[in-house]
Amino acid sequence: MTTDIQTQTERAAQTIAASRYVIALVGAGISVESGIPPFRGKGGLWTKHGEPPMDGYERFLADPATHWRQMLERRASDDEFSQALREARPNAAHVALARLESMGVLRHTISQNIDNLHFEAGSVAVTEIHGNRTKVRCIDCGARWPWSEFVAEHPEMASDVEGAPACPQCGGVVKGDTVMFGEPIPRAFLAECDAQAELADCVLIAGTSATVYPAAAFPEMVLRAGGTIVEVNTEETPFSRHASATLRGPAGQMLPALVTALEAVSNTKAMKGNLP
Ligand code: NAD
Ligand code: ZN
Repeated sequence: MTTDIQTQTERAAQTIAASRYVIALVGAGISVESGIPPFRGKGGLWTKHGEPPMDGYERFLADPATHWRQMLERRASDDEFSQALREARPNAAHVALARLESMGVLRHTISQNIDNLHFEAGSVAVTEIHGNRTKVRCIDCGARWPWSEFVAEHPEMASDVEGAPACPQCGGVVKGDTVMFGEPIPRAFLAECDAQAELADCVLIAGTSATVYPAAAFPEMVLRAGGTIVEVNTEETPFSRHASATLRGPAGQMLPALVTALEAVSNTKAMKGNLP
C-alpha cells in the first residue's frame, strides 16, 4: 500500500468512526472484480458498444408478452453481460460491505446493482434502486417474488410464454424486477433511500460515478445537511472534490483495507475505554 493510500485509508476510517449514521451508495464498480463489466468508464459495455435504446419500459408496456419471451431468451443466452451475471460470485468488496454492516458501522446500503451479490455476501440492510435480476415484480401493486418461486408456480414460463403472467395478488402486470430505461423507480425504494439519506451524516460512495439521478441526489442531500463523503473509485468522479477521504483504487482492495483500519480504530477505542 502506498503512503498516500494508507493516509487516505486512515483518514477515511477516522471520518467514518466519527460519524453518527453511515450509509453507502454503491454501483457497478463494486462488482467489476466479480467479473461483471460496468456500462460506463474503462472496459464499460456502453463505452465499447454504444448506449442501448432508452425506451425499454415503453416497449414493455406496449407488448409485455414479447418482453417475457426476450427475457427468458436473454437469461439463457451467452452474451457477455448475461453470462457474467450468471457466473458472478461476491468479491472482497461485497464481503467488506457486509462486514461493515455486521460491525454496526454501516447502517444501510443503497445499491444501483442488480446482481444480488450484496445479499449473497451477507448484507441485509440494502435497497436495490434498480431492482434485482433474481426477482420479478408487479408494476401495479409492487409485490416481488424470487424468479425461481414465480416460475415454479407458472411452469409454462420455464420454456415459453404465450402471454405475460398476471400478478397472483392483484391481477396486474408482472415484469422482471430490474428497472428498465424509462421506468419509474418503485416509490417504496425511493422512500427508503430518502429516509436513509435524511438520517445519514456520512456517505461511503464506492464503485459508482454517481452521475445518474436519483442515486446522485442522496449524497447531495447528506452534503447539504453538513455531512461528509468517503469515496472509493478507480477514477475521479463529480463527488471526489467533496470527499473528506478518497481511496483511489479497486474496491476489492480498498474496502477490505478500510475494514482493517476501522477495526484498529474500534480496538483503540475499546482499549481506551478499559483504562482506569
Ligand atoms: P456507474 O456509473 O456507477 O460506473 C461504474 C463506476 O465504477 C465508474 O465510476 C468506475 O470508475 C468505477 N469502477 C470501475 N471498476 C472499479 C473497481 N474495481 N473498483 C472501484 N470502482 C470501480 O455504473 P454503470 O457501469 O454506468 O452502470 C449504470 C447502471 O447499470 C448501474 O447503476 C446498474 O443499474 C446497471 N449495472 C449493473 C451492474 C451490476 O449489477 N453489477 C453492472 C453494470 C451495470
Ligand atoms: Zn400486483
